[in-house]
Amino acid sequence: MRFTSLPPDPNRPHHRPRRNRPRRKRRQRRPLMRLTPTAWAKLVFLRDYGPTEVGGFGITTSDHLLQIDDVMLVRQRCTETFVAFDDESVAEFFENQIDAHLRPEQFARIWIHTHPADSAEPSPTDHETFERVFGHCDWAVMLILARNDSTHAELHWRQEGPVRLPMDVLVDSGEPFPESDFAAWEEEYVASVQRLSTHSLDLDDSLDAKSHSLHDPFEPPCPDITPPFQTHPDTP
Ligand SMILES: [Zn+2]
Repeated sequence: MRFTSLPPDPNRPHHRPRRNRPRRKRRQRRPLMRLTPTAWAKLVFLRDYGPTEVGGFGITTSDHLLQIDDVMLVRQRCTETFVAFDDESVAEFFENQIDAHLRPEQFARIWIHTHPADSAEPSPTDHETFERVFGHCDWAVMLILARNDSTHAELHWRQEGPVRLPMDVLVDSGEPFPESDFAAWEEEYVASVQRLSTHSLDLDDSLDAKSHSLHDPFEPPCPDITPPFQTHPDTP
């Protein structure tokens, strides 16, 4: 790239001197998905505790909806490539959060799952699930953490038509954060995650592979991700 500083041209009445400043390549600003160091440590712990995928929800404070303070699991059955959330457990989780005076946007908008392999790229089913379950929310985030610590985060919202934005992920240690609690995390994992062998999927008639995708955590049955006090019409 060349930078030239031209003398003003007196024949051009409206000439404005150019600033002698290199033009910067405009970098598209991505929204940031922040995690506290504690939330990040917990997510890594949950990813590494067993060999399967695990999934859950990000919890935020009301004034930092894009900063995950905690990651919470619901009861789920998992293999290396598959998670099925327990419908009742998702409902319980919602009720508990509401009882704790959290608003839905603090606990039901950030869907997190791990990939036991080294790619955080969402599968086609991840995209379909996200669209189907969260597509009617005013906004939602899908966050994936792979085995090698690579991440994928994207923000969807539908203010004026659906928008999908890739996000950067930042572990933000700029604020005080609570210490790790491995014992509690282990307890939550053991209470929530039921490992299945791929073989047992064939035997489990409640997971009817013909009627749904085995990779979709919200099926079957599909919990209403929008808590009852919100009135978004369900899209079929
Ligand atoms: Zn996935």
